[in-house]
Amino acid sequence: MKENSIVILDFGSQYNQLIARRVREMGVYAEVVPYFEPLDKILARKPKGIILSGGPASVYIEGAPTIDKELYKQGIPVLGICYGMQLTTHLMGGEVARADKQEFGKAELIIDDANSPLFKGIPNNSKVWMSHNDHVTKMAEGFVQIGHTDSCVAATYNKDLNIYCIQFHAEVTHSEHGTDMLRNFVFNVAKCEKNWSMGNYIEETIKNIKETVGDKKVLLGLSGGVDSSVAATLIHRAIGDQLTCIFVDTGLLRKDEAKKVMEVYGQNFHMNIKCVDAEERFLSKLAGVSEPEAKRKIIGKEFVEVFNEEAGKLTDVEFLAQGTIYPDVIESQSVKGPSMTIKSHHNVGGLPKEMKFKLLEPLRELFKDEVRKVGRELGIPDHMIDRHPFPGPGLGIRILGAVDKEKADILREADDIFIEELRKADLYNKVSQAFVVLLPVKSVGVMGDERTYEYTAVLRSANTIDFMTATWSHLPFDFLERVSNRILNEVKGINRLTYDISSKPPATIEWE
Ligand code: GLN
Repeated sequence: MKENSIVILDFGSQYNQLIARRVREMGVYAEVVPYFEPLDKILARKPKGIILSGGPASVYIEGAPTIDKELYKQGIPVLGICYGMQLTTHLMGGEVARADKQEFGKAELIIDDANSPLFKGIPNNSKVWMSHNDHVTKMAEGFVQIGHTDSCVAATYNKDLNIYCIQFHAEVTHSEHGTDMLRNFVFNVAKCEKNWSMGNYIEETIKNIKETVGDKKVLLGLSGGVDSSVAATLIHRAIGDQLTCIFVDTGLLRKDEAKKVMEVYGQNFHMNIKCVDAEERFLSKLAGVSEPEAKRKIIGKEFVEVFNEEAGKLTDVEFLAQGTIYPDVIESQSVKGPSMTIKSHHNVGGLPKEMKFKLLEPLRELFKDEVRKVGRELGIPDHMIDRHPFPGPGLGIRILGAVDKEKADILREADDIFIEELRKADLYNKVSQAFVVLLPVKSVGVMGDERTYEYTAVLRSANTIDFMTATWSHLPFDFLERVSNRILNEVKGINRLTYDISSKPPATIEWE
């Protein structure tokens, strides 16, 4: 199946995952590999087409990311996008220089060769998205111009080598016919066949898991989140009772979380799940600690300890399974510079490397939406698949300041009402992440003529595509009113509720 694939060489563009997703949505497998991957390794993947991504560098600077020129001579069609175009031009003897002014935003592409397979079915004039400082000032020999804008050579073609270059970003939706151009490259130029589907993926992965694992045992930390649940279900399909899942109830989970997980995956799917009640352990370690990073570290460390203890009780376990997904993989091999740590990683499930297990990561090649599709095909109920992300430290970072059981119980109730109402109003799937935060602030209220002095809670709901930036959800007032009435009436311990109207940046989605 992988022999029918597109390889994307990553030069650090923020859009390279998008290219892969676009191609996969067409039913063709695509993977992102760093630009410095040796040529023989690239060829070993037997790609039918290669896409060179954009990137922040300038090709004419010493040490700029580059590739082995031989790549162009393998009889495999190449599409260079932005930096990919500039690099191709530079390596093949053309010239690239800094433009007088940078071009960012929409531009009008005028097609010069309407017969080009890349532009099949695309109108002669269309909007494309530009983001560059440099441009091609002289095309390399053998290349002809097949498209332009009023400020640059926008598309070139080398017939002998079957190389296409475009200065604009076809992968973003602002490029009106961008997806059509990528589709043309994938099917008309690279001659790929549609054969990437989740059904195929499941079948093939189950076969692989069986072969890899044999008669050995596998251990998996089940969190109830989408990734670990889908991984568990897939592995369970392959090897049944050879899989043991460990579910740790940290005391910082949502209301009835352990019950729900045991119901769906234990009772219905008959998975072997060990549910560990570790509430007291976690809460006693957290007592009096209010600094967010300190709380995260304590929770992460405790999780690993509990997990290790449980793992130690099992014999013959050879594999540790994890719900690692493709964006995590790309991220860790990325060519981008180190980005600042805003928070230590959300995933409590990140287990230490020194554990003596072989890793089993059946979702390593999938994007999140693909993981969800796999989950649905495996029969996991929608309400478990469409769940918003939930951070590893759980309520530990949604109770601001020091954490205790009383606060956790209050927050659980309030959060449950908010989520229930979102679902009832058909809003849950229209927002990306929603939850309640409990503040260590008490204020005065009045209830039944009596003075109260209770906690303040915050409703937080954000809309985002990539979780890098987000806006607050514009939830209807009557909806907010309903939630407010219910929480203030039903949850003892909260007498004041506010709605968070901060975007990210400068705020973050979670509060700690
Ligand atoms: N860094 C190059 C430029 O500024 C390429 C930009 C890109 O690939 N988006 O032109």
